Amino acid sequence: MASRSIATSDSPAGLTQVVRTREALRAAVADAQRPVGVVPTMGWLHDGHRALMREALERDATIVVTIFVNPRQFTVADDYTKYPRNEARDVAIAEAEGVDIVFAPDASEIYPPGFDTVVAVGAVARPLEGAARPGHFDGVATVVAILFDLVRADHAYFGQKDAQQVMVIRQMARDLAIPIEVIACPTVREHDGLALSSRNVHLTRAERTAAPVLHRALLAARSRWEAGERSADALRETMSDVLAREPLAAVEYVSVADGASLTELDRVDAGALLSLAVRFGATRLIDNEILAPEPAP
Ligand code: AMP
Repeated sequence: MASRSIATSDSPAGLTQVVRTREALRAAVADAQRPVGVVPTMGWLHDGHRALMREALERDATIVVTIFVNPRQFTVADDYTKYPRNEARDVAIAEAEGVDIVFAPDASEIYPPGFDTVVAVGAVARPLEGAARPGHFDGVATVVAILFDLVRADHAYFGQKDAQQVMVIRQMARDLAIPIEVIACPTVREHDGLALSSRNVHLTRAERTAAPVLHRALLAARSRWEAGERSADALRETMSDVLAREPLAAVEYVSVADGASLTELDRVDAGALLSLAVRFGATRLIDNEILAPEPAP
């Protein structure tokens, strides 16, 4: 790995190049030291995003962070308009983490007039988030395909918090023969278990207090599984029961699915994905846990 100066938040490296056009991005990465890592984000960066950057720093000589609130992956126009944005703060965070290049394009740069292509992933994009937010993964796969083509990175870093998104991107990269390794990073949480998310900023104080119920529901189901329960319905019921005790939580789905195909299970074995989507007022939160294999005795 190439040597690099490690920046801390107290002493930002100040070497981050901010580019806004496809041409400028291609030029910036053309001469970059390899391997190159890309961290796609929608900005309003938090410690979950920082963890992805730090993972990239472990492997890659050049780190590219993309900041783009992608209109095509929002299924509610209002959600897109209200999505939190603060580019100056985001660039400062990226700089403090030692990121080399920030790509922060306008929507018209990614989708110029006449843009008329959709990258639509099949089965793995259909259930769960795909069913709850029709068109969402078309938007995600389309923009990530464009970003992968522009950056030509060796590694791409995504959060396990969006577990289905990782699967959709992997399927897309494999099918389109994009030579990139997709690396999934563990979910970063607040002390009370709430998964960090840019959307958490929209929670009222009462909703914020209630929101850790997602993680509690997942942990309750996991504990039951670890205690020997193998019925998927029993685990769904456990999650639903925990969520039902929180009056502010409006449940969209609870799922116990196969970790590879995302089909709903009857019997639960290691590798299954527990996931849920819950609304608190206007804010929709998701979270998940993978059931790891039991440690050998
Ligand atoms: P977003 O900006 O929300 O689109 O997220 C950009 C990337 O950061 C995605 O790969 C997310 O899965 C990841 N991410 C978001 N929240 C977290 C978190 N709490 N822990 C780890 N990764 C996260």
